[in-house]
Amino acid sequence: AAQVAPPSTAAPAPVPHPDCVFCRIIAGTAPSRKVYENQYVLAFWDIRPRAKVHLLVIPKQHVASLKELDDLSVETRAALLSACVKVARDQGILEDGFRLISNSGTNASQSVFHLHFHVVGGERLREDAI
Ligand code: IMP
Repeated sequence: AAQVAPPSTAAPAPVPHPDCVFCRIIAGTAPSRKVYENQYVLAFWDIRPRAKVHLLVIPKQHVASLKELDDLSVETRAALLSACVKVARDQGILEDGFRLISNSGTNASQSVFHLHFHVVGGERLREDAI
């Protein structure tokens, strides 16, 4: 049978980064409370929620932070932002307002070096919270 090229939008298989906890969550070898997943991204509860709703949205392809954003496909970049809004809507926090944060690098005290967006809400947030 003739080989059919995959569509250009197909996400490449994620390359897990050694010793990355979020890569293990993607691979299913570490537990998580998943709320949404598609071929590009995964969303799950933060293990230490700092608000009534505190989710993390990550690309399946490992990059360390926003500094490496351009290493992700345009489809993944779009999927990340869309997923943040989708999970906020699904959790019912879109109407009252929520916060979207990505700590990148030393000055932001980034602690997990796999790009992630915090989706935070469900209550009135302090200006300096998260
Ligand atoms: P950062 O400080 O912006 O890098 O945030 C890392 C976040 O990942 C923190 O809010 C942690 O609570 C969270 N976190 C670390 N390990 C896990 C895990 O295994 N599952 C879910 N969240 C995690």
